[in-house]
Amino acid sequence: MRVVLATSNPGKQREFAALLAPFGMELLLQSQLGVDSPPETGASFAANALLKAAYAAQCTGLPALADDSGLEVDALGGAPGVRSARYAGEQASDADNNARLLEDLQAVPDERRGARYRCVLALVRGPNDPAPLFAHGEWRGRIGRSAIGTGGFGYDPYFIPEGLAVTVAQLPAEEKNRLSHRGQALRSLAALLAAGQESWR
Ligand code: IMP
Repeated sequence: MRVVLATSNPGKQREFAALLAPFGMELLLQSQLGVDSPPETGASFAANALLKAAYAAQCTGLPALADDSGLEVDALGGAPGVRSARYAGEQASDADNNARLLEDLQAVPDERRGARYRCVLALVRGPNDPAPLFAHGEWRGRIGRSAIGTGGFGYDPYFIPEGLAVTVAQLPAEEKNRLSHRGQALRSLAALLAAGQESWR
């Protein structure tokens, strides 16, 4: 079955394709099909994942898979959350967002700097699928005080996963995929598909 992946990130396509190939899914990047990205106007990761998947399905006539993810910081009441990519403004870079995060947490002591990455996947058969399939992943950690490492993207140089003494930006890519919120959500989706409760096989 051909499924559109509602992202323009080829790295995500490789990760997703490997886990979903056993289910006979061939993933196509929406950008290869001339589909753009809709505004992420949802109030939750699930709402945004669903709107991206539904939009890709609407544009292509194919089933679609989308992910939405972000960082939730305990001391900031869950911010930046769905605004993670735009925390320091609509056109903000990763560096801008990280600078704002550090500033917001300046007075917060080490023991209250807990956070988590979250990822939600939505898989739809069409734009008006009455029963989309959702899968979730989360990765707990804390926010450090200085940027360390060059790998990953976004908040990774500041995010120190639970049980580790290094930032995500210091982890090899395979290790990040094994532990991350996105890796967990993908494996959870694969398990749902394997359980055969859904008519995707
Ligand atoms: P999206 O799901 O690709 O739209 O990501 C939303 C935003 O959340 C990104 O721009 C990053 O700021 C943040 N984010 C999501 N996943 C990660 C991650 O694995 N590492 C670092 N930042 C992330």
